[in-house]
Amino acid sequence: MAAGSTTLRFLGTGGAFSRRYGTTCSMLALPNGERWLIDCGRQAPDQLWEAGLDWHQLAGQLVTHVHGDHIYGLEDFAFQRYYQAAAGVPAIMAGGPRPHFIAHSAVRDEVWESMAASLRYIAIDGNPRAGTLEAYFEVIEPSSWEPPAHNPWRHSETFDCGSLQVIARENEHVPGKPSTSLEFHVGGEGEPDKIAWWSGDSTVDAEFLGSIESRTTIYFHDCTFTDYPGQVHGAFSLLEKLPESIRHKMVLMHHEDDIEIHRAQVEALGFRIGLPGQVYDLCTGKLVDDTH
Ligand SMILES: [Zn+2]
Ligand SMILES: [Zn+2]
Repeated sequence: MAAGSTTLRFLGTGGAFSRRYGTTCSMLALPNGERWLIDCGRQAPDQLWEAGLDWHQLAGQLVTHVHGDHIYGLEDFAFQRYYQAAAGVPAIMAGGPRPHFIAHSAVRDEVWESMAASLRYIAIDGNPRAGTLEAYFEVIEPSSWEPPAHNPWRHSETFDCGSLQVIARENEHVPGKPSTSLEFHVGGEGEPDKIAWWSGDSTVDAEFLGSIESRTTIYFHDCTFTDYPGQVHGAFSLLEKLPESIRHKMVLMHHEDDIEIHRAQVEALGFRIGLPGQVYDLCTGKLVDDTH
């Protein structure tokens, strides 16, 4: 791997109800050596274990939105780091470091709303219900943001994620629900605008995808072949209409268990299929390893 590269390793690539590919979870490896997770679904603890990794080897966690297939592994992460020492890293309760946590503030509020009932019961100053998200994670505040556009919350928030800058931008998933895509600024010197784009769970916004194409090395997009009124995911019937220049940079993820049925059709259009064990270089957009 080239020095200074940023890679993404898929731990799970299935949609919410996948049994074969696991709920979506992937691991970023940054130029500064840090490992971060993107989302942490209900199968994440087992996916991490199967990959030979430990919670204590992670520097941080990014969350796109609150659904079980994206956050239900967080309780395991929080409790393991809080109470246990491993990999030479002390438990948080013994003074060990808290992993970083990045999510759009509207998403972060929902994360705690969802997790509080299990995580708040740690006695602080004699109060048995005093735990907060900050007891477990070092929550990173945005360095800048855009004002609200389609919803009452900020349209985007920009964060420092280790040595990378990441923008969490509201996308269209479930109407009225805080949900974000992620833009990783992976350009080196002289290429400050180069980005790797992660859809989160999202419908297809062809206009936006086109607007960032010249700067984008790789797109990872939520994909479904199940079409229905009120679609909340990336309908393949819309993805296949995207320009070739976008399709050739796009990896389909958060897909259904029957994705292999569609492989020939998908690959003929230039798409790639994301599978657990694949590692992508986010600076070049290329698949660099595949332990599947
Ligand atoms: Zn999902
Ligand atoms: Zn979702």
